[in-house]
Amino acid sequence: MRKILVVGAGQSGLQLALGLQSHGYEVTLMSNRTADEIRHGRVMSTQCMFHTALQHERDLRLNFWETQAPKMVGIGVSVAGPGAERVVDWVGRLDGYAQSIDQRVKMAGWLETFAHRGGQLVVHGAAVSDLDYFSRVYDLVLVAAGKGELVSMFPRNAARSPFTRPQRALAASYVHGLGPRPEHPEYEAAHCNLVPGVGELFVTSTLTTSGPADLLFWEGVPGGPADVFQGVVDPAEHLALTLSLMKRFTPWEYARTANVELTDAGGVLSGRYTPVVREPVAHLPGGGLALGVADVVVANDPLTGQGANTASKCAATYLRAILDHGDQEFDEAWMRRTFDRFWTETAGPTTKWANAMLGEPPEHVLNLLGAAGALPVVASRFANGFDDPADFEGYFYEAEKTEAYLSEVAGGAP
Ligand SMILES: Cc1cc2nc3c(=O)[nH]c(=O)nc-3n(C[C@H](O)[C@H](O)[C@H](O)COP(=O)(O)OP(=O)(O)OC[C@H]3O[C@@H](n4cnc5c(N)ncnc54)[C@H](O)[C@@H]3O)c2cc1C
Repeated sequence: MRKILVVGAGQSGLQLALGLQSHGYEVTLMSNRTADEIRHGRVMSTQCMFHTALQHERDLRLNFWETQAPKMVGIGVSVAGPGAERVVDWVGRLDGYAQSIDQRVKMAGWLETFAHRGGQLVVHGAAVSDLDYFSRVYDLVLVAAGKGELVSMFPRNAARSPFTRPQRALAASYVHGLGPRPEHPEYEAAHCNLVPGVGELFVTSTLTTSGPADLLFWEGVPGGPADVFQGVVDPAEHLALTLSLMKRFTPWEYARTANVELTDAGGVLSGRYTPVVREPVAHLPGGGLALGVADVVVANDPLTGQGANTASKCAATYLRAILDHGDQEFDEAWMRRTFDRFWTETAGPTTKWANAMLGEPPEHVLNLLGAAGALPVVASRFANGFDDPADFEGYFYEAEKTEAYLSEVAGGAP
C-alpha cells in the first residue's frame, strides 16, 4: 500500500490522514504536539463551519461532537451607526446549520482516533531537513502545518496576494454565561456586527472543553480603537478589553454580557497575520517535492470565517485526487493539477470574497445589506454565501449586478 506522510495535525492534516487511513493507505502523521497538549493548551480559532465542510466530516464519520455542539441556523448582520446605534439588523436563514467545535476538542479527539486506528503518529516539529529525507521514503509528502515556519518552503504568489501587511488585529474570547438574545428569539445564529472604521465583532456559539459556550471575537482595523490587544497577556484583562469595546461600539451585544466569564485560562487568543496565497509545491534541497495543504498555501483573514471550511474542502479535494490517482507517481504535474482544482472550486472564490470584505464596503454593498432587512430571500442568500462563496459572483461585487438582483427580488416579492 502507498505510504503517505502528513505534517500537521490541524483541520486539514487530520481530516486527510483519517480519510486516507480509512481507505487503507499507510499514513504517518507528524504533529508538533500530543493530543493532551492540544486539549489543555490555548484556543487556536473560532472555527465556525458551514454545511458543505461539515458534510465532508460526516462523510468520513468524523462528526463525533455533532449532537453535543450548538447548531447555528442563521447568520445575523448588524451595522453600527456613528452613535453606536444599530442601523442595520437582520438574520438570514441557512439551508444547513453551522457549528463550531473548539479545535482543542476536535483535533485532540481526531489525533487519538488516528492512533487508535493504527496510524503511525510521530510527535515532532518537522524541519525542512526532515522533509528532505522523508520525501525519499514516502510516495507523497503533504504539508498541512498551518501558518507555521514550514510555509517558507512555498513561495508567495504575488499576483494572488494583494496585501503585504495584516488587515485586522484579532482577539477572541471563549465565555460562559452570555445572556439570551432578546431581539431574535426565532432561532440561534452566528452574528456579525460591522462597525465602520473600527472593525467587526462576531458572536457565535461553540462546544469547548467545558461544554457549550459562546465566542466574542473582535477583528480590529489596525491602528484603530479595537487594535488594543497587543502585549496583553492576562486573560482577565483581555476579556475586560473585549467587553469595554462591546460597550462602546455594540451596546446591544454588551447588554448580554453581565454574567460572562472566561471558559478557562487558555480561552483567549490574539494576534494578526498577512493574508497570503502561495505556490502549491515545495522543492526540497535534495530534489524531493512536497504539496502544501490549506492554510499553508491559502491563508485568508478570518473575517469571513472561511479558513477551517476551506481546510475541510481542501482535504476532501486532495483525498479524492489521491484516490483517483491510484498507483501512479505523485509528480509535480499531479500536485499542481490537484491544487488548481482546489483553487478553482474553493480557494479562489473564497479568497476573492474574504479580500473584498476587508475593504470599506462600497455603496452597493451597503444597499444590499440594508435591503436584506426587508427581503428575507436576500438575507438568506447572503447567509448561505458563507457556505458557498462562489455564489457572491452573481450579485455582490459589481454595482450593476447587485442592483439587477435587488430589483428582480423586489419585483417578485409578494
Ligand atoms: C482568531 C481566529 C478565528 C478563526 N475563525 C474561523 C472561523 O470562524 N471559521 C473558519 O472556517 N476558520 C476560522 N479561522 C481559520 C481556521 O482556524 C484555520 O484556517 C484552519 O484551522 C486552518 O487549518 P489547517 O489545517 O490549514 O491548519 P491548522 O489548523 O493551523 O493546523 C496546523 C497544525 O500543524 C501544526 N504544526 C505547525 N508546524 C508544524 C511542524 N513544523 N511540524 C508538525 N506540526 C506542525 C500546528 O501546531 C497545527 O496543529 C480562524 C482563525 C483565527 C486565527
